Amino acid sequence: MDLLKNKTIAIIGGGPGGLTLARLLQRKGANVKVYERDYDSTVRVQGTRLDLNFDSGLKALQEANLMDAFKASYRADNERTRLVDQDAKVYLDYKEESTGDFGDQWFRPEIERGTLRTILLDSLRSGTVVWNSHIISAERIDDRFQLLFENGTTVNADIVIGADGANSKIRRFVTSIKPFYSGVSILQGSIANPEENAPKINDLFTDGKIMALGDSKSITVVSAKGSSTLDFGLSWKTNTDETDSKIDFNNRKDVLKWFKKEYSNWNPVWQQLFEAENITFTLRPQYCMPLDQKWETQPNITLIGDAAHLMPPFAGEGVNMAMLDALELSESLTSEKFRDLKSAIANYENQMLTRFSVIGKMTLNNTEWMHAEEGLDKMLSIKRKTINLE
Ligand SMILES: Cc1cc2nc3c(=O)[nH]c(=O)nc-3n(C[C@H](O)[C@H](O)[C@H](O)COP(=O)(O)OP(=O)(O)OC[C@H]3O[C@@H](n4cnc5c(N)ncnc54)[C@H](O)[C@@H]3O)c2cc1C
Repeated sequence: MDLLKNKTIAIIGGGPGGLTLARLLQRKGANVKVYERDYDSTVRVQGTRLDLNFDSGLKALQEANLMDAFKASYRADNERTRLVDQDAKVYLDYKEESTGDFGDQWFRPEIERGTLRTILLDSLRSGTVVWNSHIISAERIDDRFQLLFENGTTVNADIVIGADGANSKIRRFVTSIKPFYSGVSILQGSIANPEENAPKINDLFTDGKIMALGDSKSITVVSAKGSSTLDFGLSWKTNTDETDSKIDFNNRKDVLKWFKKEYSNWNPVWQQLFEAENITFTLRPQYCMPLDQKWETQPNITLIGDAAHLMPPFAGEGVNMAMLDALELSESLTSEKFRDLKSAIANYENQMLTRFSVIGKMTLNNTEWMHAEEGLDKMLSIKRKTINLE
């Protein structure tokens, strides 16, 4: 039975989850549009490299017939990683296997987030993504949805998929469950043209990735060769009300003052990160959906990716889960097995929620130990095993 015959599908959000789903459904002949709030495709995609896993992200790309494009653009030139303590003392300096066998379940090739988006966008039929479409509300009219966008346009759709990330506007149509604060916040910083704006830092952190763990906190600095920015991230345990209203993250001096206090047990060398000109900060308190969440399936609306199961990024699973959701939802919606859309969506949600209860638990566990006294020792022991030093 063709459940999608004469149905229009609106995917809200053109992140890795939404675009993978659009590609997979389009290959099966479905009538699909992606409504994305970014103004157009040239908006810089924030974030650094992503590792794709054999049995999730790569599996979805395989089904989408995009492995050749992926192999042509993944980062085979893995750079150095140094694991250091709060005094920047190096404990491990290594290069993870950069090339590998795509059939090997342990090979986790890396790709820039922007490159992955380009591969997915290029695979879609022209006009599939409707840019500058920031959804602000949705209304059920009979068994369809009317979607309202900030730019004043409205669109009707038979099936709505919320792929609109952490602060999903679609989530509330599916469940009243809300994410809870994980107890850890991330502050991301980006220094444009570090050679000019932060020469001292640039020399210090050149070539690869530095991950520092100590005093129950972390700092990660990524300076990819050839990149015009130096990106870094801090993560630490905090109450959101300690940071949200009390620090002006648009004011570099305020942030430096805060850093000196919060990271007072760290070597002053790290303060250089906050002294550069042209630096931008983004505060990201890390939320998580409850691991045992459940809701009653509906026949014409569901969620994928962070909209469905937001979690902190400390297991590197978010993108992989979003892409696997896309694969499993596309398979359910186009399967001959189900007599109606509700059964197809229920099958998908069942798989997705079961998987999240396992992956989410692992993620919260990582979040805990990475922000505890044993963080560095545990990370060293894991890395020594994975790079075969033990
Ligand atoms: C600091 C940080 C580091 C991370 N590192 C990793 C990592 O190394 N590996 C990993 O697997 N995961 C990582 N993650 C998690 C990962 O980024 C997410 O899990 C993943 O991007 C989820 O994909 P998605 O498609 O569900 O959502 P998103 O990537 O968030 O995409 C959502 C899309 O919807 C659009 N959108 C949002 N609201 C609206 C709206 N109202 N109307 C229309 N469009 C809208 C957005 O512009 C965006 O394009 C990290 C996350 C953070 C915060």
